[in-house]
Amino acid sequence: MVGGALGCAVAEAGFEVCLLEAREPQRSWPPDEVDLRVSALTRASQHILENLQVWPGMAKRRVSPYTDMRVWDAGGSGRIHFSAAEIGEPDLGHIVENRVIQLALWERLESLPNVTLRYPARVSELQPGDEPAVVLQDGDRLTAKLVVAADGRDSRMRGMANIGTWGWDYDQHAIVATVRPALSHRHTAWQRFMKTGPLALLPIDDGRCSIVWSTSPLQAEALMSLDDAAFCRALTQASEAVLGAIRETGPRGVFPLRLGHAETYICSGLALVGDAAHAIHPLAGQGVNLGFLDAVTLAETVIAAHEAGRRIGSIATLRRYERTRKGPNMAMLGAMDAFKRVFSNEVLPLKLVRNLGLNLADRSGFFKQHLVRRAMGLGGDLPRLAK
Ligand SMILES: Cc1cc2nc3c(=O)[nH]c(=O)nc-3n(C[C@H](O)[C@H](O)[C@H](O)COP(=O)(O)OP(=O)(O)OC[C@H]3O[C@@H](n4cnc5c(N)ncnc54)[C@H](O)[C@@H]3O)c2cc1C
Repeated sequence: MVGGALGCAVAEAGFEVCLLEAREPQRSWPPDEVDLRVSALTRASQHILENLQVWPGMAKRRVSPYTDMRVWDAGGSGRIHFSAAEIGEPDLGHIVENRVIQLALWERLESLPNVTLRYPARVSELQPGDEPAVVLQDGDRLTAKLVVAADGRDSRMRGMANIGTWGWDYDQHAIVATVRPALSHRHTAWQRFMKTGPLALLPIDDGRCSIVWSTSPLQAEALMSLDDAAFCRALTQASEAVLGAIRETGPRGVFPLRLGHAETYICSGLALVGDAAHAIHPLAGQGVNLGFLDAVTLAETVIAAHEAGRRIGSIATLRRYERTRKGPNMAMLGAMDAFKRVFSNEVLPLKLVRNLGLNLADRSGFFKQHLVRRAMGLGGDLPRLAK
């Protein structure tokens, strides 16, 4: 997703782009099927995808706006309600299937004459430097002015460039599935924080919910081994039946969660974007949103350097990209890590404080509006393409 967005942004500015992808995106699927993987997209990401002319390709498939978000603490009375109406917006964001985003990006890339899509393609060797090059598994050697690694959390390109990472396992696994609740989700994203991890029920336009249930690896294993009926009962209980009984579930998937951050986002001739640079807990649905901001920041940096006659792959150029993105990414990683720790803690004073904090924030008017605007990606200094 992030590499595709970057490709669109620089290709539209006239650069020659070659996108290497291990597998072609899925082109079609049964109309009633919801992808296991979805992303909650912020308004900033929506603006980026609109500016890149990708959003129409998504909207014609399915984007599910949500107008409200309700968060509550299983270990107390703390709760907070965010509403688009309170800040005069039509919605707080959209839940979109990852394959919808991937296909719309791919189609946009296909429509740009200066983009070459190579798939299935895998890089077997990376040669960073003033004239960076990659060698593909089929033996082809490609040279470029800049190579970008957008190959996800376990980025092999990052390893080939000898860029280390720091981080830790969360000791949580996230179970994802599409479920049908008895009651209407009311276009609301629901999130319950439990000692073992947060459970999110994200509204899909057809009335179903996509769930992200983060829990201990042991409980995740147990939940994955349940039959559908037992899993629905466990989910009804874990969600406090906030949407009534969960009546139906689709297939389930499970993802181990970890925090990871690259020691540097750049070296001569190479930049990292998206999960290749930073992996974050999904509890606030920020991962790909940060990645899209990386992509357009890098694109704008490279375009400005080219117009000024500077080398686009030089450390001096790439440093501007890293300086702009590293701070905000680390701040978000830190905030989500702290959030996860505070809400998995059973120490009584901390429980009291976090419940009090949620309730105070709920009644705080200005502070709450500030929080929701930040979560929508509308705060801070935004790249032009995110406006
Ligand atoms: C359970 C869960 C829920 C999440 N929910 C949200 C959410 O609501 N909102 C949000 O913003 N984020 C969410 N995230 C995070 C989000 O999924 C990631 O941040 C996002 O996928 C990162 O995008 P990316 O393009 O950087 O990397 P990826 O999505 O990992 O894509 C990497 C791409 O590189 C390709 N690739 C990999 N290796 C090679 C290779 N060697 N050669 C060629 N191609 C290769 C892959 O095929 C893939 O297309 C969630 C994550 C999880 C685990």
